[in-house]
Amino acid sequence: MPELPECEANRRRIEDACLNRTIEAVELGEVRHMDLPGGNAQGRLVGHQFTETRRHGKAIFAGTKSGPWIVVHLGMTGSLRPYDGEDAPDYAKVTIRFEGERRLAFRCPRKLGTVSVIDDPEAYVSEAGLGPDAMQVDADRFVEIMGRSRGAAKSALMAQTKIAGVGNLWSDETLYRAGVYPEARASELGEKMLRTLHAEMRHVLGHLLEANADYSRIPEDWLFPSRDEGEACPRCGGTITKSKVGGRTAYFCADHQKTA
Ligand SMILES: [Zn+2]
Repeated sequence: MPELPECEANRRRIEDACLNRTIEAVELGEVRHMDLPGGNAQGRLVGHQFTETRRHGKAIFAGTKSGPWIVVHLGMTGSLRPYDGEDAPDYAKVTIRFEGERRLAFRCPRKLGTVSVIDDPEAYVSEAGLGPDAMQVDADRFVEIMGRSRGAAKSALMAQTKIAGVGNLWSDETLYRAGVYPEARASELGEKMLRTLHAEMRHVLGHLLEANADYSRIPEDWLFPSRDEGEACPRCGGTITKSKVGGRTAYFCADHQKTA
C-alpha cells in the first residue's frame, strides 16, 4: 500500500508532466463503488490548469492557488500515470485530458482509491483531521504527539490523525531500526527513545524519497529484504517474526526489538 514515499513519487509525476496545460475533459472509467468526482466536479476542472502540486502524508494534490484542486488517495493499489495520446493504462478510473496529447490517468485495480475536487488543500487537511506530515514534523512535536499515545507504537506511527504518511511497511522498518517492539506503548517509550524513533522514521522515509520509492535501491541491512517469518535478522541474526498489532500484520526481529 502506498505510503509517503510512494505518494511523493506519484506527485512528482504530475509535477513533471502535467503542469500548465489546460484541462479539456475529465473522463471516468468503470467507477462503481468508487468515490470519484461527479459531473459538477468534473466540470469545475475543465478550462483550468494545474500550476502546482502538493502532498500531505498520503494525500496528493494538484491545482492552482485560487482552486480548484484535485486530491488523490491511492488506496491499496492506485497510481497516477501521465501518458500521451491514446495509450491509456488498464484500470484507468479517471482520465484528465489536457490540451494536446497529454493525459493523466488514475489507475486503480482494487478500487479503494479516491479522487475528489476540492477548493483548498490546507482546509482539506484540517477537515480530514490529519496530523503533521511525517517528513515535516520536528522531533519536539513528534515526542509530544507520540508521548500521549497510549496504544501500540506501531499503531501510533500508522495513525494518520497523529502523524500523516506512515503505513504498515515503513512503520515496521522504523521500529526495526530503532529496536522498538511493535506492541510497546508509545507513551511508555520515554523521550530519548521517541527521539530515536523520529530520527529513524526520517532516515527510512528520506532514503526512500531519495530513491523515488525504487525498492531495488533498498539496502540489504533493512528489514524489507528479509521481511518474512523465519528469516534471519540482517542486523543481529535473530529470527524475523510476525504478529497482529492493531489489526495489521507486523514483522519484527524477536531478538533485538525488545522494548516492551
Ligand atoms: Zn535483530
